[in-house]
Amino acid sequence: MKKDLLDLTLDEIALEIQTYGWPKFRSTQIFRWLHMGIKDFMDMTNLSKSDREVLENKYSITDLKLIRRQDSRKDETVKFLFQLPDGEMVESVLMKYKHGNSACLSTQVGCAMACSFCASGQEGLVRNLTTGEMVDQILAMSSLQSERISHVVLMGSGEPLQNLGNVVKLMKIINENEGLNISLRHVTLSTCGLIPEILKLATYKLPINLAISLHASNDDIRRRIMPVSRGYSIKELISACDEYSRITGRRVTYEYALIKGVNDSIIDMQHLAKLLKGKLCHVNLIPINPVEGSNYQSTNISHLNELTRVLLKNGIVSTVRRELGSDIDAACGQLKRRTLNEK
Ligand code: SAH
Repeated sequence: MKKDLLDLTLDEIALEIQTYGWPKFRSTQIFRWLHMGIKDFMDMTNLSKSDREVLENKYSITDLKLIRRQDSRKDETVKFLFQLPDGEMVESVLMKYKHGNSACLSTQVGCAMACSFCASGQEGLVRNLTTGEMVDQILAMSSLQSERISHVVLMGSGEPLQNLGNVVKLMKIINENEGLNISLRHVTLSTCGLIPEILKLATYKLPINLAISLHASNDDIRRRIMPVSRGYSIKELISACDEYSRITGRRVTYEYALIKGVNDSIIDMQHLAKLLKGKLCHVNLIPINPVEGSNYQSTNISHLNELTRVLLKNGIVSTVRRELGSDIDAACGQLKRRTLNEK
């Protein structure tokens, strides 16, 4: 199989081209073309024809195919269903904010974590995405919408920390100023809380934002809705996050998806406040998106506001995630499931 150039950092491309005895700046030229979204080596017009032919014979460039899109009528959110080179499909979302455009990427086909409220885990894990497949979700959305993407969130299907090697490489590549030049301070990695991998991620000292899908403040409820937590207690998870903050100097965000009657009582919030008291952290409350095949309902707005007041009274600042694209199945995995069901 040909090596895919979108999997490679600028330094790795430089190493590749050394073998042909080409000047070093050639790697920068190639990298720039790749991250402008060029898919055909023949379009790299500042390279000689023979160099382009060498590249074409030896390498490929990941090219995701758009299968379907859904444009929100309520806001400017667009959801895309892309086909990968092997025929698998993943979803990505582009959201517009005042501060810039944010791309929500998938990191795996399917997911092994099987959270009871999430559509992505219902099919189990199929495979990790390559770095190039993650990079190209950004390139494809940027070129389809003719928009620059300034922010990236790893909150599509998959558990990013189970694909840590490729995800770390993704960070390096999108941060490269010859390419997308996305500040790592504008990148958020969301995880269901794999402790060994959180500690491993800390060693890279990336200035990214770490978000933890906590979703419960006691182990019984968390184990019921998030099977992954059967291996770790909430206390252990939070102390791993403290260690992460100590090593990286970065604040951790705790995500808490509110499910009516399951994890949204006032006592749940008081427990949460007690767990997080005095920590360098932030709480993001998320009204749950209903998923086909589950009976979970979202907490209503007045109760949600009451819960933020309870947190504040107990010393915890929280924000409520603005729901974008609520009319377009923006909850992970649902566009793909619908498309597969129709087939
Ligand atoms: N596996 C990672 C990242 C993907 S999910 C993680 O667990 O964090 C991204 C976020 O969406 C997580 O916080 C996840 O718990 C949340 N999520 C999943 N299904 C949801 C739903 N139906 N409604 C609201 N949030 C959901």
